[in-house]
Amino acid sequence: MAQTDSIRTLPRIGPKRAELFARLGIETLGDLLHFYPRAYEDRTQLLPIASLEVDQPACFIASVVTTPQTHRIPKPGQRALEVTKLTVADHTGRLHLTFFNAAYSAGKLERGETYCFYGTLTGDYLGYAMTNPLFEPLDATGSITRCIMPIYPLTAGLNNKAIQQAVFAAFAHCTPTETLPEAVREEYGLCDAVSALHEIHLPSSAEALDEARRRLIFEEFYTFSVALALIRARRGVRAVPPYETDGMEEFYGALSFFLTNAQKRAIEEILSDFRSGKPMSRLVQGDVGCGKTMVAAAAAFCAAKNHRQTALMAPTEILAKQHFDRLAPLFDGCGIRCTLLTGSMTPQQKLVRRKEIAEGRYDLVIGTHALLTEATTFQNLGLVIADEQHRFGVAQRAALLSKGEQPHLLIMSATPIPRTLALILYGDLDVSVIDELPPGRQTVDTFLVDERYRKRLNDFIRKQAEEQHQTFIVCPAIEESETESLKSAEQWARTLKDYVFPNLRVALLHGKMKGAEKEQIMSAFAAHKYDILVSTTVIEVGVDVPNATLMVVENADRFGLSQLHQLRGRIGRGEAKSYCILVSDNKNEETRARLKALCATNDGFRIAEEDLKLRGPGDFFGSRQHGLPAFRIGNLAQNMTVLEQAQEAAKRTVAEGALPPNLKESVNVLLQNGEFALN
Ligand code: ADP
Ligand code: MG
Repeated sequence: MAQTDSIRTLPRIGPKRAELFARLGIETLGDLLHFYPRAYEDRTQLLPIASLEVDQPACFIASVVTTPQTHRIPKPGQRALEVTKLTVADHTGRLHLTFFNAAYSAGKLERGETYCFYGTLTGDYLGYAMTNPLFEPLDATGSITRCIMPIYPLTAGLNNKAIQQAVFAAFAHCTPTETLPEAVREEYGLCDAVSALHEIHLPSSAEALDEARRRLIFEEFYTFSVALALIRARRGVRAVPPYETDGMEEFYGALSFFLTNAQKRAIEEILSDFRSGKPMSRLVQGDVGCGKTMVAAAAAFCAAKNHRQTALMAPTEILAKQHFDRLAPLFDGCGIRCTLLTGSMTPQQKLVRRKEIAEGRYDLVIGTHALLTEATTFQNLGLVIADEQHRFGVAQRAALLSKGEQPHLLIMSATPIPRTLALILYGDLDVSVIDELPPGRQTVDTFLVDERYRKRLNDFIRKQAEEQHQTFIVCPAIEESETESLKSAEQWARTLKDYVFPNLRVALLHGKMKGAEKEQIMSAFAAHKYDILVSTTVIEVGVDVPNATLMVVENADRFGLSQLHQLRGRIGRGEAKSYCILVSDNKNEETRARLKALCATNDGFRIAEEDLKLRGPGDFFGSRQHGLPAFRIGNLAQNMTVLEQAQEAAKRTVAEGALPPNLKESVNVLLQNGEFALN
């Protein structure tokens, strides 16, 4: 049988069972073999009876010294309770065993014979006992006693034993295929697929389990990396007409400042992609405020001069609007027509706008993510720019690739990403790094304070307002919660307005508000109609209010470091000195160390590395969708060394040319079956 065969081919798996397995994502024998335990129970420790401890499960070898006695205790209206009792002993002591409703299995125990048991001692000073221990004859231990027991993720109707039996049956019916090339296995000292899978499902020792795990993690990262490398290679083959890239001076001349060298370099790299005749896939990475928008604008300018349309996608409507407000006047002077398409427009407005876009009336269309997913058609789409989002994952990039047109793709990443994560998230992209801030930028002084500073903090906010500067206050929640004592934006805004700062103008902004409302508040704040904006992390991304000089983050311990760094990036954008105050009463030393690290550095990349180490990749991007693939066994934060090795090996494999057939097949499965449909 092959790994691709349905699990229905296994004995004792009919349609009903198969449905239960399907709930766990298991349809084929291969799925089953690669359904890894979520944990293990170490049953290797063997103790004498006298050393067993209460509530500590353990194995012991003992002889049955009494004939098992079964009593039936009638229960009115129910099945009778069967109680089987017997006594076992070793040279250190005796122990009473009780089995409930297990007369059949307990009946296998024979007086005078010796068995290996696994169970948990219960009892007190009156005496010890054990109920329903598992046992095996002494000459046949190793599958439930004296073993490292796999614990599988379960679903109602399927217990651990059922899954384990199915896994064993799968092993008996098919041999797992080896997808790693021999040379790769040798180079990195990896065990073969068959023994790795055996060991992961029933480890013979802790060391063997570690080896198996390393090999399977490697395989997972490796396959993924090969797939990325292939996507990247495929993008290169289709030819697109090269762009004319002269005449950028008109754009540079329209700017009110000089571009930084890093910005120029990034633009040059983009223009060189445009000239190459191959579709660009480029990531521009740079710390908050380094001026990525202007790099994107330069790219859009060049596309427009080549009579191609650009779609610029922002993660929020606020940000889309801000891009539009900033770019439209700039481009107006150059004869480039911009428009904004957002979810808060009426259906009728959208219809009209879409029609105009399809007719090619606009060169630059700015909107949210929905620009690509909704029914927007372009007359001549040449460039897609995704700003500030991690959500534009491999899946969306692959989808874009499979569309008829081959637009150039430019992704702007606001969060500096640790190299290892970047390899997984963006392994199929070329990368430009903007490692320089525009001149005159302030470093933001950051402080960690607790509630004792509340009064001083309030005074400080008042002082900013007196100096005609504005303050952001970020809260972790929107509404009051009964279970958690977090500052909620709604409640806190009310308190500040009514009691703390009755003379200041306080506004509230949060993610549940309608697009139009958010936009109106945001632009009012930008126009200095408010002194204080209390909000949730909706302001995290991109929003530009140069007059804001103070960022206060309440319950700062609830945020990731990178997220806090993003928030801090909202200020220090103007001339005046800016401050970020992290408020947290959390006493946990690790937490305080984490927050203090943020006070000590402004280097986004260092913060990102730190954050990844401390919080793991799942939390890395905060609560936002992050576009990371869900690996079965690999952990991006913990298995970085393996990840790097796998990446390195994958690169070489793809460079060497044709993939070995087994590898090719597993890569294709990955590409097709939605593992790339990241979140
Ligand atoms: P980010 O990289 O975080 O997206 P933005 O593109 O929003 O940064 O730029 C931040 C601010 O810096 C904007 O107000 C922008 O106009 C300004 N800016 C960009 N490039 C320069 C530059 N070379 N010199 C001065 N100001 C610049
Ligand atoms: Mg930006």
